[in-house]
Amino acid sequence: LTDVESRVAAACSRVGRARESVRLVAVTKTVSEQVIALLPELGIFDLGESRPQVLSRKAEALKQYPIRWHLIGHLQRNKVETTLPQVALLHSVDSMRLLQEVAKWGRQQANPCSILLQVNASREEQKGGWSYEELTTSLDTIQQIDGVQVQGLMGMAAFSDDPEAARPTFRELRQFRDQIQPRWQRGPFDQLSMGMSGDYEVAIEEGATLIRIGSTLFEGLSEN
Ligand SMILES: *Cc1c(COP(=O)(O)O)cnc(C)c1O
Repeated sequence: LTDVESRVAAACSRVGRARESVRLVAVTKTVSEQVIALLPELGIFDLGESRPQVLSRKAEALKQYPIRWHLIGHLQRNKVETTLPQVALLHSVDSMRLLQEVAKWGRQQANPCSILLQVNASREEQKGGWSYEELTTSLDTIQQIDGVQVQGLMGMAAFSDDPEAARPTFRELRQFRDQIQPRWQRGPFDQLSMGMSGDYEVAIEEGATLIRIGSTLFEGLSEN
């Protein structure tokens, strides 16, 4: 954690950003509740899980801690109701149908659900998310939908051993956010969730506001 923190701070200072402009989300999908329970003591309150059922189980087991849970993996529409009560920010809204279902739930709760729209930034067929074209066309429709607070975008770069390979993907995602922002009438559209263990420093240089880090934090502590 100390190493990650110093790399985050260095990346921020290389591009003249304030450290507070980047939030670390610790991705706990490979570790137990016992390990997770240590994180609040270390000042880590933003935790990410990729599977809805696992998030629900861990959130229930750790409900005495002031944790903000981030769902970063695919959510099926039939799990919206059981999962969202525990989710502070849903990063992975990857289709209009899911968006509609989440918004319906938000209206029922009379409390808009905070979400990010997941973009298939790397244009890989096996990855989920909206294409840039789809999202551009759907933007006006999305802005009419009550029950969600859309805070920005989430994306992933293609897997590579070279962090620099991710840079063009991250830059394109940021430029897309910048292009949407002036058209967006429904509150700030300023969040960019991008960067994982292998590429978070590049992501910060390119404007990430949320970085999702798992393996580099939990090496040696993982259960699988
Ligand atoms: C697992 C996961 C991460 C964390 O990846 P690491 O390489 O372990 O840091 C980030 N984002 C998503 C969507 C993930 O599923």
